[in-house]
Amino acid sequence: MISVEEARAYILKHFHPLETERVELLEALDRVLAEDIVSDINVPPHDNSAMDGYAVCAEDIAGASLQNPIRLRVLADLGAGYVPNTTVEPGSAIRIMTGAVIPPGADTVVRFEETSEAVAQKATGKGSGYVEILNAPPRGSNLRRAGEDIRRGEIILPKGVTLRPPEIGLLASVGCAHVPVHRRPRVAILATGDELVDVDEPLAPGKIRNSNEYSNAAAVLKAGGIPICLGIARDNIAHLTQKIREGIDAGADLFITSAGVSVGDYDIVKDVLNTEGEMHFWQVNMKPGKPLAFGIVGNVPLLGLPGNPVSAIVSFEAFARPAILTMLGKTNFARPYVTAILQERATNDAGRRNYIRVHVARDAEGEYVARTTGEQGSGILSSVTRANGLLEMPPEVLEYKPGERVKITMLDYPEESF
Ligand code: AMP
Ligand code: MG
Repeated sequence: MISVEEARAYILKHFHPLETERVELLEALDRVLAEDIVSDINVPPHDNSAMDGYAVCAEDIAGASLQNPIRLRVLADLGAGYVPNTTVEPGSAIRIMTGAVIPPGADTVVRFEETSEAVAQKATGKGSGYVEILNAPPRGSNLRRAGEDIRRGEIILPKGVTLRPPEIGLLASVGCAHVPVHRRPRVAILATGDELVDVDEPLAPGKIRNSNEYSNAAAVLKAGGIPICLGIARDNIAHLTQKIREGIDAGADLFITSAGVSVGDYDIVKDVLNTEGEMHFWQVNMKPGKPLAFGIVGNVPLLGLPGNPVSAIVSFEAFARPAILTMLGKTNFARPYVTAILQERATNDAGRRNYIRVHVARDAEGEYVARTTGEQGSGILSSVTRANGLLEMPPEVLEYKPGERVKITMLDYPEESF
């Protein structure tokens, strides 16, 4: 039996970031930059006012105070978006709004609150032609300098960065309307089994619904891939072969099958994969999810996940998700973890890497506590729905006691109430 780490390292050798495509700005959200982005402008492009107030020359207002107001002639009103065509001469000021370009001659902005405009009885300020300055902030106050956020020629975002809303905004601020990102992988998904019926079909005797196709497709979407759902292949060589070829022809970058990789009479996925491509079959030292196939069919890496719904989910998490993230250009794919106080005993008698479904919450003291979510059988999908994390027990760890601090891999970081 090989370890999870060995299987993952072997699998990931077959994946690389996909080609670059240029997508519209909003399409780039959650994608990975494929090139450095260099700004060809300064941001902000010009010195501008950080406040609504008066653009003045600091020398003119030296010593100004409530007791010693300094009266300046107001030359103009200047809003954001307009270029000043007046120079601030000695003894004068320009009434200026936040974001407006600092007029020539001015080196300081005095906020409205520090002028007669804030004092009703003064009857100076807006519209009167004069303003009284009631305070003398240091030279350069309330100015935003050209290039203080971004300098022309600077790399604003290096390749490899995942684009979140602030990065999308930064790209917009330098006029990057089309963004070079790695293409999203297309992932073919095929369920196998004579017992399966689709979600909208009636349940005939002996049948179960095909849930793996949907949990796998949803996991592909969540990881950033594009699922290509191929439906169900029956447990016979001809149909399975046909479905596998269909997926290859659909231009898959990764092929995911579920079930039929174990040792049962109808576990023929292995046989078909061997004739259609080059396959390895492994028993991976994990629970749930021991049987796993990996290989290449028609140049496409194929991951044969086990059929039990929980095994499929855990194996997807361990092997398929990192593969998809690699193709997207990501280099870190371990989920974040928290250290939580385990509330119940957890055992590992299988001598395998055990993945235990847990729910993590914060207790009254603000400490993370973890509870198992019930029955841990590999067919109990409902207990995964109650979990937000996985407690991984390495093969050599046979027990965690209640009260022990354990590391929980968080599948989800749910929002909490305010
Ligand atoms: P197998 O590996 O084919 O023996 O399948 C293992 C178990 O997983 C069996 O109980 C199957 O019925 C179940 N199973 C296989 N495929 C699916 C699927 N697509 N959705 C839900 N359960 C499945
Ligand atoms: Mg089967």
